[in-house]
Amino acid sequence: MPNVEGLITRKSMLYKTGVEYGDYTINYVQGCAHGCKYPCYAFALKKRFGQIKTYDEWRKPYLVSNTLELLDKEIPKLKNKIKSVHLCFTTDPFMYGYSQIEKMSIDAIKKMNSAGIKCTVLTKGILPEELADCSKENEYGITLISLDEEYRRQVEPGAASYEDRLKAIKILHEKGCKTWVSIEPYPTPNLIDQSLGEILEAVSFVDKIIFGRTNYSKEVSSGYPEHKRFYNEKAEEVLLFCDSHNIDCHIKEKTITK
Ligand code: SF4
Repeated sequence: MPNVEGLITRKSMLYKTGVEYGDYTINYVQGCAHGCKYPCYAFALKKRFGQIKTYDEWRKPYLVSNTLELLDKEIPKLKNKIKSVHLCFTTDPFMYGYSQIEKMSIDAIKKMNSAGIKCTVLTKGILPEELADCSKENEYGITLISLDEEYRRQVEPGAASYEDRLKAIKILHEKGCKTWVSIEPYPTPNLIDQSLGEILEAVSFVDKIIFGRTNYSKEVSSGYPEHKRFYNEKAEEVLLFCDSHNIDCHIKEKTITK
């Protein structure tokens, strides 16, 4: 098992996010070994602000060692304002193979749950079974944009296999946890020709599906001129599937265009 590259400290932890889904969030790891090539929005942001210089540097995670102490200080002040806390927007809470990060994530979730705060989790790693012992209000999600391992190795080189992600989330579902899947950024056929229907079938047991286009890659738009029509059709397919399977559905902004 790899260790994190090092430990760092921060001055604050809980903050309000401006993104479409999510209320408050915490990010207690700098960098992400998954190294997604979509490209990764978090990496692009850190690079723009000069905090990280290279892709190799981004893939070496540093854990914020005072995460739990900061939560102890901040939770009492903020808990009445918080509806939920999302883990994480700028790293992965269950980074594949990193047990120190996994432990910190579970400890942080338990701490927030014991203050009555619900957590939502999204990972491209393995959701540990232990999460089933946390609050049943929590929502556990995986990203799943394909079922093709060859493609996964290409675009999410350090992440867990699709099969292992699915097995882990299924276990939590069977233990009575709320589960969800993020199908984003969904690739256009010039990147991989695949069946969205098969992906939807593979996750038909979850409570919620979020579907979104590839937003921040110009190559995709120019490499696939039909992308608007493509995403309109795929979004419609997701909506129909969710409707017929009684699954909550959220189509990300700008995925459907007129
Ligand atoms: S898992 Fe998320 S944070 Fe990590 S590299 Fe991939 S997109 Fe970026």
